[in-house]
Parts: sequence; C-alpha cells; structure tokens
Amino acid sequence: MEKIIDENKQGERLVIEAKDGNTKKLFIESYGCQMNFSDSEIVASILSQEGFNTTNTLEEADLVLVNTCSIRDKAEQTVRKRLEKYNAVKKDKNPKMKIGVLGCMAERLKSKFLEEEKMVDLVVGPDAYKDLPNLIEEVEDGRNAINVILSKEETYGDIAPVRLNSNGVTAFVSITRGCDNMCTFCVVPFTRGRERSREPQSIIEEINDLAKRGFKEVTLLGQNVDSYLWYGGGLKKDFDKASEIQKATAVNFAMLLDMCAKAQPKMRFRFSTSNPQDMTLDVIETMAKHRNICKYIHLPVQSGSNRILKEMNRLHTREEYFELIDNIKRIIPEVAISQDMIAGFPTETEEDHQDTLSLMEYVKYDFGFMFAYSERPGTLAGRKMKDDVPEEVKKRRLNEIQALQRKHSHYNTLKQVGQTQEVLIEKSSKKSDAHWSGRNTQNTVVVFPKEHYKVGDFVNVKITDCTSATLIGEAVGYSENN
Ligand code: SF4
Repeated sequence: MEKIIDENKQGERLVIEAKDGNTKKLFIESYGCQMNFSDSEIVASILSQEGFNTTNTLEEADLVLVNTCSIRDKAEQTVRKRLEKYNAVKKDKNPKMKIGVLGCMAERLKSKFLEEEKMVDLVVGPDAYKDLPNLIEEVEDGRNAINVILSKEETYGDIAPVRLNSNGVTAFVSITRGCDNMCTFCVVPFTRGRERSREPQSIIEEINDLAKRGFKEVTLLGQNVDSYLWYGGGLKKDFDKASEIQKATAVNFAMLLDMCAKAQPKMRFRFSTSNPQDMTLDVIETMAKHRNICKYIHLPVQSGSNRILKEMNRLHTREEYFELIDNIKRIIPEVAISQDMIAGFPTETEEDHQDTLSLMEYVKYDFGFMFAYSERPGTLAGRKMKDDVPEEVKKRRLNEIQALQRKHSHYNTLKQVGQTQEVLIEKSSKKSDAHWSGRNTQNTVVVFPKEHYKVGDFVNVKITDCTSATLIGEAVGYSENN
C-alpha cells in the first residue's frame, strides 16, 4: 500500500492509502457511530483488492458508497439528502457512476431502497461486506444487487483495514459486533445482529501493525465492548453450550485490555462503547493497572429515572449505576466519564426528568451526547409505546439537560487548570494555525502553541486556562512516553 500525505479543507494532515495499479475510484462517506467509520475502512480494504483506490472527489468516482446510520430519523434524512446529491452528480457529470448504501439504514430498509427510493444500485448490510465484489459484478452487469444477511460469525478479523482520512496517529480497531441488549428505543440489535467477538490474536496483530506504521493511539470498538468474550468463535449467547476447555480458556474484555496494553506499552488505548449493566470491576482495575490505558469511560445511562430505565429495558437501577460510578471514581480518581442521555422517552413525567437532572448532579459528567427521543420503526418502543411527550416539552427538557452538562463540563475543566498533563498531538487547532490540538488521557481537547513539536508527539502541557470543553496551555517538554 502506498501512503499519500494530503490535507483536508481544515488544513488537517491526512494519510491516504492507495494500492499501486488500481485504476477504479471509490468515494466512500460514513455517518453515525465510530463502528461505521471503522467498517468503511474494512470496505475500502476489500475493494482495494478489486482495483479500487479511494478518492475524495465525488465527480470522478466509479463507485459511491454511503455508510449509513439509523439511530434517529434525522440521521436517515441526512443520508437521503446525500443520495439526492450523488444522483444529481451522476446525472450531470458522471452517468457511469454506481451508487450504493451500506450500514444500518441498508439493513433496516433492505430492498425498499431499490424498490421505493430508486436512488441506489446496491444495498449491503453491515455483515455482508465480503460479498461486495460479487454484488458489484452484478451491478456492472446492469442488475441491482442486495445482501442484508446478518451473520453469526462475521467479525472481519481477517481483513486489514485501509485507513481512511486518517491523521496517521489515532485509529479504530473493532473487537466485537452486534448487541444482545435489546434496549427498547434502539435499532442496533435489528441492524447489526447478535453479539460476537473477534479472535484476540487478530486484534493484537492489527495493533502491532498500527504501531509499526507510527500510530500512537487505538480505540477498541464495539456496540457493547464490556460483553466482549472470545471462546473460539460463535455467538456470545451460546457461551453456556461451550466445552469446559473453551470456558477455561475464554478471553473476556478485562483480559483483552491487559493483552493490548502489554503488547504495545508506548501506545495509548481507549475503548467505546460501554453498557453499565455489563461493565465489571476487573475492567476498571485493569485500566488503573496500566498507564497506557486512558482514564476515560463513555458510560451511557439514557435516563436517571428507575421507572424509565425499566421502560427502556436498561437492566440496572440508578442506585446500581451510582455504585458503579463510586467504584470507578474510587479505583481511578482522575477518571473522566461521559454520558448518553435521551430526553422525552414515552411516558416520561416531569418527576422522571428531575431524576435525570439529579443523577447528572451526582455524577458531574465531563461531557455527553444528549438527544430528544426519536421513535424508531421496528423497535419495541416504536411498536408498543406511544411517542406521547410533546415536542416542545422534549425540547425544553433537552435544553435543561444540555445546560446542566455545560455547567458540569466547565466545573471539570476548571479543576484541571494548573495541572501538567500528557497530550498526544493530533492536528492543528481549528481556531489557530499556530496552535496544536490533541487530547489528554481523560479525552479532553488541549490546545497549545506549536513551537518545535509535531503531530504524533506526546508532550507535557501545563494547563493555564480553559473553556467548558477545551483546556489551554503551554508545552513544557516531551513526555517520557514520547
Ligand atoms: S446497549 Fe442498548 S443502546 Fe446500546 S447498542 Fe445495544 S441495544 Fe442499542
């Protein structure tokens, strides 16, 4: 693979991988969660073996693929607008262009995309990317093509991703696929199937390869990383049927984290996403044990009300969540925690909303991802629960949650002023070309003057000021980890 150093519109350094001799052009766009961005790198790799190199120029593409998200209606509207754009370019500038949809919306809508929407030639679900070469052949023969079969085994563990729009410093490595949790508002179990974990050695090999190529930080990815469990392949839910030897040699998430941290002691490790009902103390203790496992946990809760948590089929109470938070802060005092929150879930009362605000007051999250409830077709809530909270009430409650989060974010950044922190430089600051931007172990953005440092350096930064989301400082030398 040849490496091309380019720059995007924001002046960020991009490493684009291209295979010599490939003549076809693939334009691929990703929406939604980090899993989708990681999957698009798998797709680019599969197609690089079929003569495709990626391009950032839509007009010149032979094949346009959009990796889609279905988590909220707005995400699907965004994709529809992009499909209109592609079809306009196809009509005006490049009639030979083929257009395809990947990801959760492809899995949710399936053949409807071909029959009703008529905006695409190709529909491929998250577990069927290895079938792309055959499907593209069908399209090139003038037929529409579709494969939305969900798999019990597929983890793409044998595919070396082609890094897309990469800064050459941080990378995603997926470790599990699917989710068994069936939260009533969520489409993921329907669009990504049952949980299955990737073989640990293939994960370590991918991490070692990234380290060799100069990457400095890896985020281990899964819809629900805490329920990672390798016991020789197959679905997590079939673990009980495993043999005694398989059970005795099984690798859980804490063990995998330990293996990764030891395999590359100079590389930083993060992970996402966790579910409170599956997170265990040994994961937290493993984080505390290794300097190179970042002290940050994304721990979605969605609501602070026990009644609503039950309606959401979140298998924990607010009290159990507090106990987990207390354990995390006891074992890792400097930890940062972020949340996902839904405002206005069906039947949510003012009292339930106040429970959410009081939970946030107890935890004082560093930051969060907060949304108004969006009914998703096919989910249990979508089928059985009336979306009965008026839009203006949802909006008002969401505003209150976001305002409280901003207050707590600032409370947490203010606490860090005066500290000296290790920062990994990722790119130029959005606001000033004379400043670097990177993140500390808590995943907070830190901005400081560039001086003689460069992208990929671990630098100690004295924090002198802050906003609610960003720390501002001065570099005081390379960190021992550099
Ligand atoms: S844990 Fe719940 S919210 Fe998260 S992906 Fe699984 S079903 Fe969806």
